[in-house]
Amino acid sequence: MTSLAPSARDGLVRTVVVVEDEQPIAQAVAARLRSEGYAVEIAADGPSGVAMCARIRPDLVVLDLMLPGLDGIEVCKRIQSERPVPVLMLTARDGETDLLVGLAVGADDYMTKPFSMRELIARVHALLRRAERSADSAQQPVVRIGDVELDATTRRVRVDGELVHLTPIEFDLVHYLAARPGRVSTREELLAQVWGYDVPSGARTVDSHIRTIRRKLGPAIVRTVHGVGYAIEEARANCM
Ligand code: CA
Repeated sequence: MTSLAPSARDGLVRTVVVVEDEQPIAQAVAARLRSEGYAVEIAADGPSGVAMCARIRPDLVVLDLMLPGLDGIEVCKRIQSERPVPVLMLTARDGETDLLVGLAVGADDYMTKPFSMRELIARVHALLRRAERSADSAQQPVVRIGDVELDATTRRVRVDGELVHLTPIEFDLVHYLAARPGRVSTREELLAQVWGYDVPSGARTVDSHIRTIRRKLGPAIVRTVHGVGYAIEEARANCM
């Protein structure tokens, strides 16, 4: 089973800025990200990295710690002050102090050189998913679907005012669909976005959770789109 990369979600291309002065590394990282479907721009020093992030407003930044002009910590501080964006920091050595400062100024994750491209891609995917998930819940804390109310802040579900217990994965699944009213999500997308990893017998796992959700919240809550996936109808979903 293949999981859907965030680069391809919604058909929108995610943009990554790579700030790295070592050209071979910058080129290799960019090539690998492009092959995964990302749009990539490279900046070779600190000041141009800051300027590029302000101009392009990327979805994620891969940021080297040791840079000419401004170091990675200062670059991270400046791009984060503009707007929050996930930052994956690259460090040349296990400099613990640098690292702690880097994480303190808003880097979300780091990798020590040399790293594998496979690992880099896995980290990039995970950071983007996390960022998109928290943006979704922050924008729509309470979602209504008919007489069902989902509160993402408390993770409580009420049907006709009565509390109903959902497991965390059931909650995330129904909330993910309800936050995208009218849109059909494939099983692969749901696995990638809700579970966040490949599940053995993935499609059947989604189906069995949908069955449980229908049993708890009513059969009409989720529509099956045969051969495609699942959707919650626009007319039923009402974001507050
Ligand atoms: Ca460097």
